[in-house]
Amino acid sequence: LTTRKLAFGVDIGGTNVRVVLGDKKGIFLKRLSERTDITNGAEGVSRQILRMIRSIKLPKSGEDKIEGIGIGSAGPLNLAMGGLTNPTNIPYDFVPLVGPISEEMEKPTFLLNDCTMGVTGEKYFGAGKGLKNIVYITLSTGIGAGVYVDGHLLLGKDGNAAEIGHLTIDSSGCLPCSCGKRGHWEGYSSGKGIPNYCRMLLRKMRPSVYMNSVLSRLAFDSEENITAEMIFNAAKKGDSLCNEILHRVGIMNAIGFACVVDAYDPDIITVGGSVALSNQNLIIKPIREHIAEYARNRIPEIAITPLKEDVVLYGALARVFNPK
Ligand SMILES: [Zn+2]
Repeated sequence: LTTRKLAFGVDIGGTNVRVVLGDKKGIFLKRLSERTDITNGAEGVSRQILRMIRSIKLPKSGEDKIEGIGIGSAGPLNLAMGGLTNPTNIPYDFVPLVGPISEEMEKPTFLLNDCTMGVTGEKYFGAGKGLKNIVYITLSTGIGAGVYVDGHLLLGKDGNAAEIGHLTIDSSGCLPCSCGKRGHWEGYSSGKGIPNYCRMLLRKMRPSVYMNSVLSRLAFDSEENITAEMIFNAAKKGDSLCNEILHRVGIMNAIGFACVVDAYDPDIITVGGSVALSNQNLIIKPIREHIAEYARNRIPEIAITPLKEDVVLYGALARVFNPK
C-alpha cells in the first residue's frame, strides 16, 4: 500500500463555498457546495468550512495523509492577518480564515486571492503547464486576475496583486464600481456592471431602438429589470441592439486585456468566470478582434480555461502540494 497524499481545496465565491478533497494529480475524490454563511458572525465562514471538511469521510485505505488546506477567496485579502478585509459579499470588517482553520485541523493552511489560486490551478493542471508567464482572468460577478511572471506568482503587499477589475478604463468615470469608486473596468463588463453599462448606452439612443428590441420584451419594458443574462440571450437570438451593446462591452474588455498584456507580457491568458464560461464566443471574439488596437506588446494566446468553473479548486489543491 502506498501512502496517498491528499489535500482539501476551498473556493469562497460570491454566493457559494465549495470544498473538494483531492490528490496531487488533481483528481477530486469528494466535493461539496453550500451557500456562504454570512449570518453567523465574522467566524461563521471558517466554522462552515470546518464543518464541510469534517463531513467528508476519507476513503478507507488507512494510508491516506492530509497534507493541508488551500483556500481561494474573493478579496480584498490581508495575507499577514490570514483573512478577508471588508469583503464585498460578506458583511464583516475582518473575516479570519487561516487562524481558525489551521488551529482546528492542525494542518498547513494556505490562503490566496481566488484568481491567484486560479492561475496556480492553470499552471499545474491546466493550459499553463510548462509556461512561465501566465495570466488567468475571471469575468464573473466581478473581474479579477492571477499572474505568474518569469515563474513567480505575484502576491503583493497584502495579497491583492492584479486586482485588475479596478483598473480605471473610463476617466470620465460615469459608472460606479462594486468597490464604490468610478470608471473601473468591473463597473462596465462584469455580470453586475453589464446591465448598468447597457442602461447608460440606451440613454444615448432613440427610445424606439429599445422599445423595438427583444431586450425590452425580456425586461417587461422596464430598463431596471435588465440583466446580463437577458442581454447575452437576446444577442444569441440575433437581436441587433444586444449585439451592439455586447460589442461595446467587448471593447471595454479589449482595453482591460490590453492593459494586462502590457503590464505582465504573458505567454497565455486563460479566461474563466460565469460570464465568460456561459458566453464563450460573445466574450472572447471581440477581445481577440480589438486587443491590438490598444496593446503595445505582442498579443498572447487568449483562451477559455480548460478547468472551467473548478479552476480555483484545482489551484487550492496545487498550492498545498507546491507551497512556495
Ligand atoms: Zn472598483
